[in-house]
Amino acid sequence: MSLLMSSNLVDVYFFSEGPFYYILDPSSMMLWREKHNNINKANSNPEKQLFPLTTVEKEIPEEIFAKIKNLTRYGFFQPKGHSSSKKLHFEINNVDFIVLNPNTFCNLNCWYCYVDKSLKEKYKEADFNQIIHFLEVFLAQRKSHNNKPLAISCCYTNEITKNFDIFLRLYKIVENLREKNDIILFLPSTNLFEISDDFIEFINSYGYLAVSIDLSNKKQIETVTTNLSFFDKNVIKHCHATIQPLMSDIYEKYFFLMQHFDFVSMKPVRLGYDRKLKWDEKSLLKLDYEMRRFVNKLLELTDKKLVNFLLKIGDTDYFTRYLKRIFERKKVLHRCPAGITAISFGPDNKIYPCSGLTGSKYSYGEFVDGKLVLNNLNLQRNVKEIRECNSCPIRYYCGGPCLDWLNKTQSKFITKEECKINKIFFKSAAVLAFELLENRKSVLEIYRKKKEIKLKLNYDTSFSSFSQKFGA
Ligand code: SF4
Ligand code: SF4
Repeated sequence: MSLLMSSNLVDVYFFSEGPFYYILDPSSMMLWREKHNNINKANSNPEKQLFPLTTVEKEIPEEIFAKIKNLTRYGFFQPKGHSSSKKLHFEINNVDFIVLNPNTFCNLNCWYCYVDKSLKEKYKEADFNQIIHFLEVFLAQRKSHNNKPLAISCCYTNEITKNFDIFLRLYKIVENLREKNDIILFLPSTNLFEISDDFIEFINSYGYLAVSIDLSNKKQIETVTTNLSFFDKNVIKHCHATIQPLMSDIYEKYFFLMQHFDFVSMKPVRLGYDRKLKWDEKSLLKLDYEMRRFVNKLLELTDKKLVNFLLKIGDTDYFTRYLKRIFERKKVLHRCPAGITAISFGPDNKIYPCSGLTGSKYSYGEFVDGKLVLNNLNLQRNVKEIRECNSCPIRYYCGGPCLDWLNKTQSKFITKEECKINKIFFKSAAVLAFELLENRKSVLEIYRKKKEIKLKLNYDTSFSSFSQKFGA
């Protein structure tokens, strides 16, 4: 046994929750769980997160240990070597999604605002003509190479209701361009703090409203819930909210928002180290506790209520994104499309991989004198080629670091707090996945059919009986 351990050749990770050990083979994305009477509570320490076999040799029960040893003979738990750290090549012709950010004008001042301070000071006023010119040049260049539809959105660095005249101009331009180009226009989220009759009328005919809420801002919550009544019942309403450090009662927060919205998506807030409220040891421990409590609260619901709750979680939600990936076992090789098939265009006439990076040094090019000049930069890498990620147990569920988060923390390869948050979400989603799979089958069936989730966790997920098939 110790030969196996000391060899460091086994790529297997554990965590425990309740009476179970969860066992993960990162390369194949296979997960099992095993009930055990004598779980060492030290293993539940979130600081340990998902720990490799080599660090818990003495804590893992011998029978599990022996099964792992046997399965390695059949090719399980094999580590993959690290390949070179190649950056992907950015090509404007591959772009399928573009966000136009004409200025930084907003009527709220969220404490965690993703827009760079210096950009806010410099680019309050709109220069919309440049944006239109850029769009025309970009479309002409792209069209000859890429026949796929182009999705356009706007106002990620500003508030749409404060820039609604600009939005309407863009809307008209896109309508005209649609005659010759396949374009879909997506509305950005609004903070719904101040709304005009024009905006209400537009949304009522458009049929979809996305709202971003800062859950620490009571005044915004009050205003939003009042302002929602101005929209027709048949408008689909989607709420985006951030999970913030030291936040309590995550289940109750979803539940509250679900009373007002058709869909709710929550995400951990991306923070730099310069913020007063940070992701640190204390807030990460709290998040771990809160996410476990969230899953326990879900499991207390009746089947009907649980299905309704899960179906009301939006597609951009961080927790259900992990849940879906656990079920589907499809390798995620890039964190997101930023700088691959998606870009943003800022008020400084520069192209960025993501709106969050607008105004940063990470511009991929510039629109000067009516021409697109690219500077041969790309920050995105394949997760297999990032050394820090290559040995991460959840690499294929995560896809690598968020570029915006790296910029905010000035980290080079990964933001370690982001990684810890990812593991917390992975663990809590895995617990729910197994409960649905083993004990709430009818809930799982409805949920995965409605959300079009392919179930690839379709092998024997009990570690004992799975390993028995291999003679262990
Ligand atoms: S970014 Fe962090 S959590 Fe994601 S794969 Fe890389 S090391 Fe793992
Ligand atoms: S870089 Fe980060 S913030 Fe930007 S799109 Fe990707 S995941 Fe989202």
